[in-house]
Amino acid sequence: MGRCFEKSAVDLVIVGGGVTGAGVFREAVRNGLRCLLVDQKDFAWGTSSRSSKLIHGGLRYLKEAQFKLTLESVKERERLLTEAEGLVSPIDFIMPLYDGAGPGRAAMAAGLTVYDILAKKFRHRYLRSHRVKELIPGINTETLKGGYLFMDAQVDDARLVLRLIGEGVRQGGRALNYTYARSILRDAEGRVTGVSLMDQATGAEFEVSAPAVVNATGVWAEALHPSPEAHLHLRPLRGSHLVFSREKLPVDQAISFFHPTDKRPLFIIPWEGVVLLGTTDLDHEGDVNLEPAITDAEVEYLLGALKGVIPHAGLTREDALTSFAGVRPVLSEGGKSASQESREHAVWVDRGLVTVTGGKLTTFRKLAWDTLNAAQPFIREDPLTGEGDAVFSERRGTTPEGVGHELYKRLWSRYGKGTLALLQGAGPQGLELISGTPYVWAELAYAAEHEGVCHLEDLLLRRVRIGLILKNGGLDQMASIRAVVENYLNWDDERWEKEVADYRRLWQGCYNPCPPENK
Ligand SMILES: Cc1cc2nc3c(=O)[nH]c(=O)nc-3n(C[C@H](O)[C@H](O)[C@H](O)COP(=O)(O)OP(=O)(O)OC[C@H]3O[C@@H](n4cnc5c(N)ncnc54)[C@H](O)[C@@H]3O)c2cc1C
Repeated sequence: MGRCFEKSAVDLVIVGGGVTGAGVFREAVRNGLRCLLVDQKDFAWGTSSRSSKLIHGGLRYLKEAQFKLTLESVKERERLLTEAEGLVSPIDFIMPLYDGAGPGRAAMAAGLTVYDILAKKFRHRYLRSHRVKELIPGINTETLKGGYLFMDAQVDDARLVLRLIGEGVRQGGRALNYTYARSILRDAEGRVTGVSLMDQATGAEFEVSAPAVVNATGVWAEALHPSPEAHLHLRPLRGSHLVFSREKLPVDQAISFFHPTDKRPLFIIPWEGVVLLGTTDLDHEGDVNLEPAITDAEVEYLLGALKGVIPHAGLTREDALTSFAGVRPVLSEGGKSASQESREHAVWVDRGLVTVTGGKLTTFRKLAWDTLNAAQPFIREDPLTGEGDAVFSERRGTTPEGVGHELYKRLWSRYGKGTLALLQGAGPQGLELISGTPYVWAELAYAAEHEGVCHLEDLLLRRVRIGLILKNGGLDQMASIRAVVENYLNWDDERWEKEVADYRRLWQGCYNPCPPENK
């Protein structure tokens, strides 16, 4: 992972360092292909760091009779729970049931039974109303009939991307962030011959030869490859979240519930020591090249939903720690409401250019293999292998002395083999927790040294998620953060001032739930 690349030919260039591109990269490198992955901004800068962080079957897709998508998602969830243990973790959900609102008990029982059958595990159960009240303090009890408990899974989305890229790089792949793919290069017959790239830091342009290019640019996909299906185009749909501390919103299980006004499904999800409330689903009218942010209307909508389900929480905008927004790459035929749009993916092939877009974080492996199988004829004759292999091949060994087992497990799940260097470099205070977070200081040092950090925002929003979970985005801890990473980043005072000022501006504009003009 980094910024240095000797400009030679490769077998495959992957444009887009979100979960889709990272999944393709990981599997292609495993097959011995010489691969280059590029992202115009940071790895996971796009949608893949801004999701609801669920690895889920998607109960709501069952309601819309999207059995194929649910089955694929449930299979992937089960696989990732084992193969990415610690990074992908089980999470209990409660869905409260109300008289005369939302689905009834019979409908939920049927849906959850199908969900469990698809997973081949029987895990849901009915809860009487008194048990729901115990489990969700402050829940709206008016007409509460009971509820269902069921299981799904959650992830640190950006770390999933970085783990996939990290393993690919350690096995010989090359990955460059802040490298923009300007255009696809072709020969006289229109066959792909490579890609024209630009280093965003210097403006330097260069070309890389390759017989195949994967366009995994999510919501940007049609810029490199306009849809070949006249009726099907990308519809950017924004989803936003509010983030609360557990003191303000004390829930131990996730809650799946319906908005009192438009009846859309929403979630309250404990994650990384905080609680996420989301999400919205709206046409994104803004420029997709600019960082998206929650709007006032979305804040009101989410707070209205919270008031409906936990009225006694009495939370306001000022109580939120942070907010974040992302834009879904959804393929649309038109004529549907945002929430009715399918989350299926599409693969388009054009003489060596293979575009993959749509889909979900959960199904990234499936997307990767559909893409690679489409790209293979342009690269080599032999089929690619390993579709059934475990997603990560780096295996965790015995917990080293002096390191807690849970910490070691957590670090390995995020850094793979990099954990060894992380621990070696950790000074006496390195394994202490950064206050208010589940991260240890040595993670910052490791990321700064080994994970291609170009800007402060890369470190605080994606390598660790301090920017999402600490009030003020970690700006209050900047002196300590600088002390830990400055030896690796080699920024002088002027650069530090600029990085901090840029990060402050970004955080205030796009992650602060109460930007100064609202106070
Ligand atoms: C609010 C929200 C909640 C969601 N929740 C869930 C969930 O809980 N579970 C789930 O499974 N899915 C969820 N999703 C969907 C999931 O996040 C996306 O499907 C997935 O992250 C898309 O990944 P991607 O790699 O295709 O796109 P992206 O992550 O957007 O990656 C594309 C990358 O391409 C780069 N790029 C674009 N153009 C160029 C270029 N010309 N040159 C170089 N790089 C370029 C971009 O910078 C970007 O980093 C959610 C989505 C949203 C918005």
